[in-house]
Amino acid sequence: MLQQTQVKTVLPYFEKFLRHYPTLKSLSQAQERTVLKLWEGLGYYRRAKNLLKSTKQLAKINFKLPNSLKEIKKFPGVGNYTANALLAFIHDKPTLAVDGNVKRVFSRILNKKETQINFEKLIKTNESKIFIKKRNSDVVEAFMEFGAIICKPKKPECNKCTVKKKCNYFNNSKHKKINLKKKLKNKKINVFCYVNKKKQIGLTKNSNVGFLKTFVLPEIKNRRKYLSKDWNFLLNYNQNISNKRFNINLYYKFSKKIPRDFKWYNVNNKNEMIPTFTKKILSEIEKIF
Ligand code: SF4
Repeated sequence: MLQQTQVKTVLPYFEKFLRHYPTLKSLSQAQERTVLKLWEGLGYYRRAKNLLKSTKQLAKINFKLPNSLKEIKKFPGVGNYTANALLAFIHDKPTLAVDGNVKRVFSRILNKKETQINFEKLIKTNESKIFIKKRNSDVVEAFMEFGAIICKPKKPECNKCTVKKKCNYFNNSKHKKINLKKKLKNKKINVFCYVNKKKQIGLTKNSNVGFLKTFVLPEIKNRRKYLSKDWNFLLNYNQNISNKRFNINLYYKFSKKIPRDFKWYNVNNKNEMIPTFTKKILSEIEKIF
């Protein structure tokens, strides 16, 4: 849940999720649509799908997580970062889960650009200095927390820092640039909504749009070529989704027919899992009735 998402956003979802699925066993028996409904609004729905798939795979091996990086990375959606975090947290292995916080801490201590550091090599060569026997998982957690609480992205709390004497950033007036924020890519899209007099909107799960694939969406086109006179312009707005900033032109037209692969949904549908992108559209379309 925390991938690309802030702790304060995640907390209520996490608590609700754990109330529904307090054990891996209970999660492994869950239906995908129930899990997605719990995830609704958190975005990056592939995480929920992969979590469920991984848990179902784990059930087949009695919920015993393998203890090698190579084997853990075979689980759906598990990359280097998650695999290393699991190795440390579950098996107490001396490894670091290198996220943005950890990268920044090392980048500052060494006063090198993040891209100049080979983290794998750095961990191997400094294993005995970084880790304490039997408390490796605490060290991994501590590095993450240290980056979040002390060596913060914008204003590091150097005066409170216990490693400042050895920190090249603190002791050097020439600071290497830290990557603060990933730049969002701008994208213009046109959204076309079929609506009918019963306050319904035509949505499809078969759109060829990469983001939110397999979730209910209206017709989306990059170009306005599709536009004919009978489409009414409703609104222009911006919405950020993952690393993209969408500039959206929203159109609608009343129609009794919808294209193949589309279904009618009530605009105030509460039962189906609806991604935030579509929810915003539904709330705007609701205003035209
Ligand atoms: S001294 Fe400052 S920059 Fe260096 S590690 Fe500590 S908090 Fe980060």
